[in-house]
Amino acid sequence: MSTAPVPITVARGDGIGPEIMDATLRILDAGGAALDIEEISIGEAMYAQGFTAGIAPEALASLRRTKVFLKAPITTPQGGGFKSLNVTIRKTFGMYANIRPCVAYAPFVSTKHPGMDVVIVRENEEDLYAGIEHQQTDEVVQCLKLISRPGCERIARYAFEYARAHGRRKVTAFTKDNIMKMTDGLFHKVFDEVAAEYPDLENEHWIIDIGAAKMADTPEAFDVIVLPNLYGDILSDVAAQIAGSVGLAGSANIGAEVSMFEAIHGSAPRRAGQDVANPSGLFLGAVQMLVHIGQGDVATRVHNAWLSTIEDGIHTYDIFDDAVSTQKVGTSAFADAVIERLGRVPETLTPVEYRVGDAISVKVADRAPRPKSQLGVDVFLHWRDGSPDDLAQLLLPHAAPTLQLDMVSNRGQKVWPEGSPETLTTDHWRCRFLAPDGGTTTAGDVVALQQRLVEAGLEPIKTEGLYAFDGEPAFTKGQGQ
Ligand code: NAD
Repeated sequence: MSTAPVPITVARGDGIGPEIMDATLRILDAGGAALDIEEISIGEAMYAQGFTAGIAPEALASLRRTKVFLKAPITTPQGGGFKSLNVTIRKTFGMYANIRPCVAYAPFVSTKHPGMDVVIVRENEEDLYAGIEHQQTDEVVQCLKLISRPGCERIARYAFEYARAHGRRKVTAFTKDNIMKMTDGLFHKVFDEVAAEYPDLENEHWIIDIGAAKMADTPEAFDVIVLPNLYGDILSDVAAQIAGSVGLAGSANIGAEVSMFEAIHGSAPRRAGQDVANPSGLFLGAVQMLVHIGQGDVATRVHNAWLSTIEDGIHTYDIFDDAVSTQKVGTSAFADAVIERLGRVPETLTPVEYRVGDAISVKVADRAPRPKSQLGVDVFLHWRDGSPDDLAQLLLPHAAPTLQLDMVSNRGQKVWPEGSPETLTTDHWRCRFLAPDGGTTTAGDVVALQQRLVEAGLEPIKTEGLYAFDGEPAFTKGQGQ
């Protein structure tokens, strides 16, 4: 190969990790991958040395240097005090996109969905995963769902760029924007904006509930699916499972600088050291890595050899089936079989052909801030001394003249004015105050209101500003309004 070796960081991990990594690297090497490997230690040994996330700072420095991480699974210690290695790496390096191809290999690997070939593109940083949770009253806990415009734009662009680079025809977004009109609504809106820049690709949006049902029933209807974090977390596992290939699936975590490639399964400790584990999940993660570092030609060669091995019926125990398999092999014999088939393309399964080129690069445009004005405030109270009407009567004298009490809601349901007696109320009340006549208010007025409420013996636990951008109110009304 004339290509200069590309530096990558490799970790052999725990359990079956070292065996499947060895098999994977042997295939890559035989296939002509130009890699300059730097090895690091992660997992059990590092946790035992007191590194709470299973990785030492010098190892993180290696990832910063090479920017590419091929990672075998690790065993996560049981009990408190330990942090997830994967979450730590993803967050440290801002790996915003999780890419998981979910492919059926029928008739050679049994599946209910023989035609399935779906790529899940999951936003990996935002949404309910910010970990911002609070309890502020006896009865209610909350979790903040954060969705950003640049975050949406980056993941949507990645999905369309991925589709284009991999010869895919359609990108589908799933959201629940009929309910979460602002957060999921932004994801959908930005998806539509980005989609308009890719007229060569089809695009569509499904509400997540019916979309997920359709995907589980007829995955052939989808090609690339892009989702916010939580939905993506759930549906990427569903998709891998119904493809029939959890043990065969690889995944990429893409960051602006550093990216990580791995199998989706764990370290299978009971199978460790026996040369029986299937190296395919890690291998397919490594194929994604080769494409990412611009060695698409090598990726094509080794992936087609792997497909040929699968369709020749040379299977590890986990996918072995008397009806279609011809030979049960262990980890290293499977790698040998793939190496023997380098140069071949599959006859029944669809051959792959990757583009040789640079990694997908996604740029997010800077946007000028828009004119912003404050229209009011939602004051949340911890209160349990009566009915919604009782609370409103307590609040009304403290609102005027700078702010007016617009409504009171409980768990998002409007309970004043004109509430429904059937609504269950808790000790967590949202009291909306607006400037009179659709006008604007000031931070000073809002603080003064809170001061009056505290002096009246009430307990504000938090406030949310009610703003307009470009004159457009940017907050939802309560349910029941
Ligand atoms: P697992 O994925 O390791 O194993 C689940 C089942 O699948 C087991 O029966 C196992 O034998 C089998 N299996 C998994 N990979 C296989 C392969 N390549 N070939 C053949 N059979 C395979 O899940 P688990 O048992 O829940 O977890 C074991 C450990 O792995 C735990 O410590 C867990 O925290 C960790 N884990 C790590 C990662 C990661 O590093 N990315 C991911 C998931 C789980």
